[in-house]
Amino acid sequence: MEIRRNPFTGERVLVSPHRLSRPWQPEGFCPFCPGGPETGQGWELLLLPNRYPVVTRNPPTPTQEELFQAEEAYGQAYVLVETPQHDLDDLSDLPPSQIEKVLRLVMKAQKEAEEDPKALYFLFFRNKGKEIGVSLTHPHSQIYILPVVPPRVETELRASEEWYRQRGTCLHCLITTREEKRIVYQNASWKSFVPYYARWPHEVHIYPKRHVSHFTALREDEVRDLADMLRKTLCAFKTALGKPMPYIMVLHQAPLRVETPHYHLHFEIYGMYRPDGKLKYAAGAELGASLYTLDTTPEETAERLRKALANCVTNPRPFRAGMGKV
Ligand SMILES: [Zn+2]
Ligand SMILES: [Zn+2]
Ligand SMILES: [Zn+2]
Repeated sequence: MEIRRNPFTGERVLVSPHRLSRPWQPEGFCPFCPGGPETGQGWELLLLPNRYPVVTRNPPTPTQEELFQAEEAYGQAYVLVETPQHDLDDLSDLPPSQIEKVLRLVMKAQKEAEEDPKALYFLFFRNKGKEIGVSLTHPHSQIYILPVVPPRVETELRASEEWYRQRGTCLHCLITTREEKRIVYQNASWKSFVPYYARWPHEVHIYPKRHVSHFTALREDEVRDLADMLRKTLCAFKTALGKPMPYIMVLHQAPLRVETPHYHLHFEIYGMYRPDGKLKYAAGAELGASLYTLDTTPEETAERLRKALANCVTNPRPFRAGMGKV
């Protein structure tokens, strides 16, 4: 178990072969439902240490090989079980107050991680949909506390810093204020849009309107507005094509304890269906050459998601009955 680095691209590989030894579970068994050996009873949401983690508090010494660089797989991996209800489809089916609790629990975990000098990065993400290989459908998200900064974030950090050095402004702030054409939704403190440079057929980025580098620096009202933002944006993902869309959601923020006037936290959501409802695969051009092909335009996607979102707001049917209106 270790973190290997590609000397050409800077990419990292979390090598953890023990994850293959996950025990066989009977069909229909859910480790996240209340009453299980790890979960117990009487909770509204749970932060569980991942039983088959990619990083650990006591990692083995990495292998030493000439020419290559590996780091200790130090850190922590958690599963955040977002509700005791097994059969909810998505985060957007939860009432805003429960989504807010999820966000506050993420914040609490990050505050703890900030105290650990060996932890450099807090990665929060959510994979949704059997179509993209999610085996446990009980609503949950994940947290990796890592000893390295994820390369994609590092790349963004570098470009943002360069812009800041030359012009003295945050490029993210600038884009957020200017972006009107491809906007999906906004409330008092957040704005979501399909970026000009979207790679996936339904890609949305969500930014706080205020310049904030870390998730833990968000104000009370910003957390509340974020719950509203996620609920509506994800409802649009669920309804835009008439069937729930598999997606990946990831939080990009500054490395732990590093204040960045140039880097602005944001969520990125990659909806994996093309407009015809077929799954988009990353293949030769994408995986082999980092060349993404888009069978639509970000402008069209924004319009489709805006319409779906407006429908979520006026017609709360996609949200579960009894959970209140938007
Ligand atoms: Zn369950
Ligand atoms: Zn900014
Ligand atoms: Zn980003």
